[in-house]
Order: sequence, then C-alpha cells, then structure tokens
Amino acid sequence: MATEDRDSVIAKELEDIQSRVPSIDGLKLIACVPMLVQASITKNEFKQVTANIQFPPRYPHEPIMIQMKSRRLEQKFTDKLEKICEDEAKKWIGARQVLVILKFIRTFLEENSLCVCSEEIVYIKRELIKDSDEIKLKQKTSQIFLKINQNNYFMNLTVEVPDIYPKQQIKIELTETNFPDLLRVNFIAQAKELARQCVTPPLLKNTNQPFEVKPSLKVVCNYLIKDCVKRYPLENCPICKSFVLAEDPKNELKGRKNQIERVYCGHLFHNGCLDKYMKTPPFVGGKKCPACDKKIYHEKWRVSAEVMENRWAHKQAKQRELEEVKDFMND
Ligand SMILES: [Zn+2]
Ligand SMILES: [Zn+2]
Repeated sequence: MATEDRDSVIAKELEDIQSRVPSIDGLKLIACVPMLVQASITKNEFKQVTANIQFPPRYPHEPIMIQMKSRRLEQKFTDKLEKICEDEAKKWIGARQVLVILKFIRTFLEENSLCVCSEEIVYIKRELIKDSDEIKLKQKTSQIFLKINQNNYFMNLTVEVPDIYPKQQIKIELTETNFPDLLRVNFIAQAKELARQCVTPPLLKNTNQPFEVKPSLKVVCNYLIKDCVKRYPLENCPICKSFVLAEDPKNELKGRKNQIERVYCGHLFHNGCLDKYMKTPPFVGGKKCPACDKKIYHEKWRVSAEVMENRWAHKQAKQRELEEVKDFMND
C-alpha cells in the first residue's frame, strides 16, 4: 500500500516538474523519470551545476538524495552545496521537494557569486593571511575586503570578482595604506599587470603553447600579501643593512637621501645608499644588486658604464687637484 502511494506521489510530482521547468530561467531537465531526475542549473558558463536527484524509499517522508557535478566549479564547493541542499530538503519533508531544491540551487548560484573562486579564498585564508589580518566576503556585491598588516605597516584592499570570472580578471582597489607613495603606486600597478596577464595572451605568441585564461585572485594576492606587505617592512637596505623603511611609518624618513628606491629585481634601497653605490666603481658589466646579483636597472641611474667610469675618473682627478692645491697651500 505504502509503495503504491510513493509511486503515485512521485508520478504526479514528475508531471508537475516537466510542465513547470521549461518556463524557469536557468533550469534545464536532462532526465525526469522515477529512478532519477537530472537537471542542469546555470547562472552563466562558469556558474553551472548538474544535479542528480533520487527519491528515497520512504519519499516524501524522507529528504531527496542529491548528487552534484560541475564542469567549472570546484568539487569542494559542490560537495558543500550538496550538504546545504540536503538540509534544505529536510525542511520540505512530506511535501514535493524536487522543484524547490532546483530553484534553491539556482538562487544559491545567483547569491553566492564568490563561488567561482572558493578554492582561491581557502588558499588566501590558509596560506597568506595571519591572525592580525582580516578577510571579509560580501557575496551580494561579489567583493572581498582584505586588511593586511606587517609590523607598523598596513594595506587595505577591495577586490571585486566579476560575474564571468575567471574569463575576466579581478578588479583591485587599494583603499588605504601607510606605505610610502612610491611603493603604493608600484604595488598596485604591478598587481594590475599580473591580473591582466592572467586573461590576456602575450603579444609575442608562443605557438607551441596555446594561451589559457588563469584565475587571477590567487596570483594577485600572492604578490600583494606575500611579496609586498609581508616582505618590505622586514627588509634591509642591501647597502647599509638597516631597515629600508622607517620602523614607524609616521616618522617616514625625511630627505632625499632616505627616500626609497625600488630597482628592477624588487629590492629596495635608500636613495643615498644606491646613489653612492651606482657612482662608485667597478662599472664594468653593469652594477649588480648586492642582495640578489641581478643587474640593476633604474631610470635615475641609466648612464652607461663608460660614462660612469669617465665621470668617476674626472671626479678623482678633480679631487687630486684639490688635494695638490691644499698641499701647495700648506707648504
Ligand atoms: Zn641604506
Ligand atoms: Zn636584488
């Protein structure tokens, strides 16, 4: 008797599903038989899941059984969503459950726009930020707010994840920081460039390797958090070996000599220290960064080795002349 009840309940529900699903935006039925209801739920090409739903033996007095797959979304995310749907189905015990759950998934994809980068967020939380930092997610506006600290320095960031992420790169805004201007400008320009490279093929095409779009959130956060905020407040000037940034940002080192210079390899120098180093021999083969041995490129010291050599020789000669004059005067 109970089995007959179940069969007719399911038959009526399947009929209802078949007649109503075609008019619901984002839902598509693939199978709709007593053994299995299979449907594709789509927000866009990146936010899509396929749900396999089965009726348990005591349906509708037990929750439906749900399995999910996705071509684009992470397995961990679909596993989590399965659990959430199971809990939701429990609320509908005794009633028709399939259509409410399909619609629930559709709304969930709509309202949890950060689902496209769930694994990257897990990585940021686990690998990049510390207890003193903060991360806040705002699903509604698809934004991530980050507050990153190191010693007395901080950087507050707002990251926006576009709807068709990762096809389109994240948008980064540096909302507040107490790093010196030169660094602030450098950090954000480099972060934007890294994000751009994730979605734009290089100009010089490498025909052997077809370009593939890469998720940009992890790349950019690795750079801004690990390679910038967590690094520079602890870094020493390669020349004088003292902290390159003022220990207290309020006492930002004043005067041109103490200004910070960032060279091609990413190392920071005091302007005065770098200037002296760049103008002192040997010049042959170009000046190299004492910290990493990479060649130093810097706009302000772009003169060739030869010119440097001559300048230095000239300066030495002048110095000798002056000393000779002094000697002569002392006589
Ligand atoms: Zn220095
Ligand atoms: Zn270096």
